[in-house]
Amino acid sequence: MGALTLTSIEKTYPNGHRAVKGLSLDIEPGEFVVLVGPSGCGKSTILRSIAGLESLTGGEIHIGDRRVDTEPPAKRDIAMVFQNYALYPHMTVYKNLAYGLKNRGVEATEIDRKVREAADLLQINDYLDRKPQQLSGGQRQRVAMGRAIVRDPQLFLFDEPLSNLDAKLRAHMRLEIKKLQRKLSATSIFVTHDQVEAMTLADRIVVLNGGEIEQVGTPRDVYHRP
Ligand code: ADP
Ligand code: ADP
Repeated sequence: MGALTLTSIEKTYPNGHRAVKGLSLDIEPGEFVVLVGPSGCGKSTILRSIAGLESLTGGEIHIGDRRVDTEPPAKRDIAMVFQNYALYPHMTVYKNLAYGLKNRGVEATEIDRKVREAADLLQINDYLDRKPQQLSGGQRQRVAMGRAIVRDPQLFLFDEPLSNLDAKLRAHMRLEIKKLQRKLSATSIFVTHDQVEAMTLADRIVVLNGGEIEQVGTPRDVYHRP
């Protein structure tokens, strides 16, 4: 049984556009899967469907042996990191990290422990009292990742998290994510259109085209052109 299993998932939007066409994929525990493919091929629709931000029009999603596509997003135990950070602008970094836990009724000492642990891991301890607009793009993206990490989810979804950063910072964050991945060995799906990112991060790359899987393989399989 995989950590995440997509079984013949379908998404047809209300306007009739069939964005995902009966796609199946089995992801192993701790595996880092990168989704690539041309703009409009359905990457974002797939992530949003797994997170529960879109409802499927067919198929099933399981986390372990639990069916989740019929559950509301909050019950799915998934954390998503977006490219636009999605931080609360009026809250400090500390509160941005703590917010979701507080909402779930986690005890204050436990929240504090988790926030500090994530802040250590991401090296944002010095910014806990700042607000998002007082941070650089890279620092904001770390906070966004911290917010996912404190929730200790069964699955991480990354929707082009580095695409708003300049080239130098992207390269740096790419390596940071790689390190985090080794430390946390958390099951992850990462969407990107950057080949270097895909090659650096992926255990397995899934190439999509027109809402279907075109190829699945290791970075070597997919990008090695003899
Ligand atoms: P990608 O992330 O690979 O760029 P998307 O998942 O965003 O692709 O989109 C897949 C296809 O579905 C595209 O053709 C897009 O135009 C279409 N699409 C996305 N969202 C909607 C929507 N809300 N209503 C109708 N069509 C949509
Ligand atoms: P509220 O406005 O919700 O009462 P507080 O500012 O009192 O929130 O903080 C709630 C908890 O978070 C307290 O236990 C406080 O010690 C802790 N806290 C808030 N900001 C920080 C920070 N920058 N560093 C460490 N702990 C913090």
